[in-house]
Amino acid sequence: METPFPSDGLVATHPFVDLHAHVRLNGGEDYDSLERAALVGGFSTLTLQPNTKPPIETHEVLERHLSLSRGRRVEFLYTVSPFGELEGEEERVVGFSTDGIEYDYPRLVETMKKKKKKDVLWFDHSQCYELDGIFYEGTPLPFPKRPRSNEAIAVLRTVFTGLEYGFPRFHVQHVTTAFSLDVISFLKGIARVSCEVTPHHLFFCYEDIKNSNFKVNPPLGSSEDRKALVEAVRRGLIDVLASDHAPHSEKPQDFEKAPYGSSSLEIAFSVYYTILGDLELVFEKMTKAPLEVLGRGGTLSPDNLVFVDPKVEYVVDVKKFKSKGRNSMFDGVKLKGRVVALKLHGEWVMLDGEILPHQERRLQG
Ligand SMILES: [Zn+2]
Repeated sequence: METPFPSDGLVATHPFVDLHAHVRLNGGEDYDSLERAALVGGFSTLTLQPNTKPPIETHEVLERHLSLSRGRRVEFLYTVSPFGELEGEEERVVGFSTDGIEYDYPRLVETMKKKKKKDVLWFDHSQCYELDGIFYEGTPLPFPKRPRSNEAIAVLRTVFTGLEYGFPRFHVQHVTTAFSLDVISFLKGIARVSCEVTPHHLFFCYEDIKNSNFKVNPPLGSSEDRKALVEAVRRGLIDVLASDHAPHSEKPQDFEKAPYGSSSLEIAFSVYYTILGDLELVFEKMTKAPLEVLGRGGTLSPDNLVFVDPKVEYVVDVKKFKSKGRNSMFDGVKLKGRVVALKLHGEWVMLDGEILPHQERRLQG
């Protein structure tokens, strides 16, 4: 096809679809900066999580987000908190999500009993908050730790409780340990369960923690966990490669005071390609697989394409991010493979990391 740039050596596919991103309002990442970061990262669609301030758990807050994201080039979908008044079936809402919301077992049971739905997808940040600990056991740092099995127990707890009270589908977010993979492997045999991994959990382990940008929730696992995650992506147990883009302008260096999260939208493809080295696999898990979780098809069309250069190498520089998030544990890391251009709805919207202005439709001929 004709492109307004030299396309020798580039590979094109359906634009990326993210099941896990965060927007901040009130001075943090807003819809403008988040959209620019998404375009640079090659994404057409982001699924936002409900832990905004205030959380997306009322019609009023949801309506505020819907109006801020309406008519944009990137499509914004929503997951909403199950703990409020929403039903998980509102406009552009793709299900419930517990991401970033603390809950314990009694609250989970009570909520699932009340909110059971025939076909609502439950996105789960699986954590037993009954236990403290910002890192996993084994992490070589002097801070409170929780067992690595915490997540696996929470995954089982959510899915079993959900099945008992009538939820049909579950998507386990940001899986981090080999324990969880064993549980998910079992659950996939008895229920409709999918799962995702993040760029940081696939690339780093807890021995790599250098500063507070490495503080994420769930925390980084052991090197054996990391290897198990890579292996699980390759054999298909992990369905989706998500970004878990969690922007903060700057984090305090104090580990206990620093908020959780790493900014990843602009580099997600590169991280995944660097680790996995398999373009077809990365494309499938950033396009077809997330669309399937959302219950959508994704036909390849010349009007919607992302172009990547699989050969180019570069060093991540957070100062160049379009996102307001400056908290990336990948700052200074060399990656292979880069998103070069993005076309959405028939219009080129990004080239070489720069956002292109809206074009007037050119006359034919
Ligand atoms: Zn989470």
